[in-house]
Amino acid sequence: APAEPLEEKGQVAPYICQRRTPLLHHNTALTDALETMAEEARFCGSDVRSLAFSRAASVLKSLPWRVKRIQQLHTVPCVGEHSQRIIQEMLEDGMSAEVEQVRQSERYRTMKLFTKIFGVGVKIASQWYQRGLRTLADLQLHQIKLNLEQQAGLLHYEDLNTPVELWEAEAISQVVRKAVEQISPGATVTLTGGFRRGKPCGHDVDLLITHPSEGQEMGLLCRVISILDSQGFLLYHSTHRNSLPSLEDEELWVSDHSSTMDHFERCLSIFHLGDLAGSNQGGAGAQKLGASTGSGASSLWKAVRVDLVETPYSQFPFALLGWTGSRNFERDLRRFSKHEKKMTLNSHGLYHLEQKIFLPAASEEEIFQHLGLEYILPEERNA
Ligand code: ATP
Ligand code: MN
Ligand code: MN
Repeated sequence: APAEPLEEKGQVAPYICQRRTPLLHHNTALTDALETMAEEARFCGSDVRSLAFSRAASVLKSLPWRVKRIQQLHTVPCVGEHSQRIIQEMLEDGMSAEVEQVRQSERYRTMKLFTKIFGVGVKIASQWYQRGLRTLADLQLHQIKLNLEQQAGLLHYEDLNTPVELWEAEAISQVVRKAVEQISPGATVTLTGGFRRGKPCGHDVDLLITHPSEGQEMGLLCRVISILDSQGFLLYHSTHRNSLPSLEDEELWVSDHSSTMDHFERCLSIFHLGDLAGSNQGGAGAQKLGASTGSGASSLWKAVRVDLVETPYSQFPFALLGWTGSRNFERDLRRFSKHEKKMTLNSHGLYHLEQKIFLPAASEEEIFQHLGLEYILPEERNA
């Protein structure tokens, strides 16, 4: 038998946070198929199954070579039986009948349609499906009660499901930065989420706000929102107050939710990007929007989802790490901390459960050091 290429012999680490996962990789057809299966499982409420497909997709994204035969995966972790079957089908036929069947199914398509409404999760979408609803128009027809978030989501459905481009994200960051500096000179605004991982587009804009002198950040978000609102930038916003009891409260670190919850003051919003182009912000964004619209005023503005988070400076590296994602990367980082290091990691800090001490950090690099992990760049966290 021909020798395996050398690069295939390297051991693949079991945790996502021990691997480098670039945005562009060699197994896109396979990972798309597995991610469809993960999504379908999530739509069915089978989170365990969903996670299994998702982990299999993640590991394939980290391979520096293209999978050509199923045997190549024998030493690769996280690829379960069902995932292997899908991969085999894809390798043999160039497509998987099972995946195609999912993609065509009425349930999958309807769940996809409904969960793409801002504020609608699997649970609600599923209820609507059970009731026989199939289209967005059906929601009105059946006079479904929607909360304010969902109403905004439905109203701006098209825009919010049009990818946000990097220049738009940067233009919005700049608008927020201006408002922040107006209130509190020295405060900073950091673009995080998928854009920080090098994605050219995303579903929203994630911004972290902090101030280098601890305490100065308090109340900043609220005031920024009111400025942005008065400037006409906000189509929708809902603020979640800071609910952090105290980092010293051990319950925060020992409970099951300790690593999923995040207690920062946070605002989920929908920006009105048209005013950006119309105002004197200048910059590439505004020019590009102006130049690319040839037909009608309707295309002159766009609704964009923006997440704004206020964080104390001492917690900033943890918040940055937590909000950069990807979700799969974060999940494994926390799982690794807990099971391999007996530590709880969340967006507020890192706590050693046995020594009962906090491990402070001034940068993401230091957090990886505390965990005994090699530093993984944001661009390598696209799991
Ligand atoms: P996209 O480009 O599609 O927006 P993304 O990776 O930026 O992809 P988001 O849903 O915006 O995805 O989430 C970014 C990160 O923010 C995630 O990794 C997640 O851990 C974190 N995050 C999102 N929502 C919350 C929340 N409510 N509490 C804590 N962390 C959150
Ligand atoms: Mn995002
Ligand atoms: Mn987000």
